[in-house]
Amino acid sequence: MKNVVLLGCTGSIGQSTLKVAADLNGQMRLVGLAARSSVDALERQAREWKPKAVAIYDEKHCATLKDRLPAGVKCHAGLDGLVELATMPEADIVLVAIVGTAGLQPALAAIRAGKTLAIASKEILVMAGEIVMREARKHGVKVLPVDSEHSAIFQCLEGRHPDDVRRLLLTASGGPFRKKTKAELAHVTAADALRHPTWNMGNKITIDSSTLFNKGLEMIEARWLFGLGMDRVDVVVHPQSIVHSMVEFLDGSVLAQLSVPDMRYPIQYAITHPRRQPNTIPFTDFTKLPPLTFETPDAEKFPALRLAREAGTTGGTMPAVMNAANEIAVPAFMNGKIRFPQIWETVGKVMSRHQTVHARTLEPIIEADRWAREEAAKLC
Ligand code: MG
Repeated sequence: MKNVVLLGCTGSIGQSTLKVAADLNGQMRLVGLAARSSVDALERQAREWKPKAVAIYDEKHCATLKDRLPAGVKCHAGLDGLVELATMPEADIVLVAIVGTAGLQPALAAIRAGKTLAIASKEILVMAGEIVMREARKHGVKVLPVDSEHSAIFQCLEGRHPDDVRRLLLTASGGPFRKKTKAELAHVTAADALRHPTWNMGNKITIDSSTLFNKGLEMIEARWLFGLGMDRVDVVVHPQSIVHSMVEFLDGSVLAQLSVPDMRYPIQYAITHPRRQPNTIPFTDFTKLPPLTFETPDAEKFPALRLAREAGTTGGTMPAVMNAANEIAVPAFMNGKIRFPQIWETVGKVMSRHQTVHARTLEPIIEADRWAREEAAKLC
């Protein structure tokens, strides 16, 4: 039985995690649930899953939620509330699936409290990968990936010697605009971008898939999670999203992890690791799959990979700056304030104006994040 705290229970990953919990009935218990502001959904989930405690990030909803919770469920609020949940004595695993930077401090608190950390929020490793992995080593806790690509690489690396790895190959669907020309990309709309070919995800991450910033963020995450230099993290476009990522070894042998695309696989593996459990997800029938194809990403058309490699190689506060500028540019594009290619332009400009600080603590990273948001907002 694993006791799990789920931070971000009403989002896309959160809902998939609840499906996993239903599948693992009796082997996974949700002891804490946290949402940003969805009082109705959190109340419903609290009644269904009977956690010991819940937290709502947006403090103004706290009173309403408290009134509506079943008896005996503790209610916390704000960032302190998330930290409270992340350090619950009952918790074995803290799964962080909060969009944005709010997951950073709870993730570090979970590590320091000796909890296994399962990471779905990209920001944690992108912004503070060095600090998070250093703290995890210091406290002897495991950091498990929940993203499909990183879970794939994690599974391919199990039992291998790190020195035998030549490079990691992250697969990318290529997004809905893979076949568009540079000229056509100038005129795509948010509605076009939200029609993702293979994965059904939240809006921000779907736009990030169409710019390839999602893959850029994943490159930086992979670098920290698996302790490799940026030059050993590569991307290959694989539109069918069946091969979730691969590891190439020194002898030229490549291991891949495959399944039909469904986030329940990587979520479940983070919970049951190192064992596996049966579930209700349909098995992959290889005879019914489309042909699997692989392409080199077009760095000229999609500059996000180049910017991410630059940010990851520079390190320090630069990845946080890239992430923050993108977080401002994406809604600006969705609200029609900037055109699609201006998402990359904005991020590139903010990065070029940034003086990198080599951060040993969170403060300079949070400060760089704040600065980059302001700079990006001026440009949008
Ligand atoms: Mg992914």
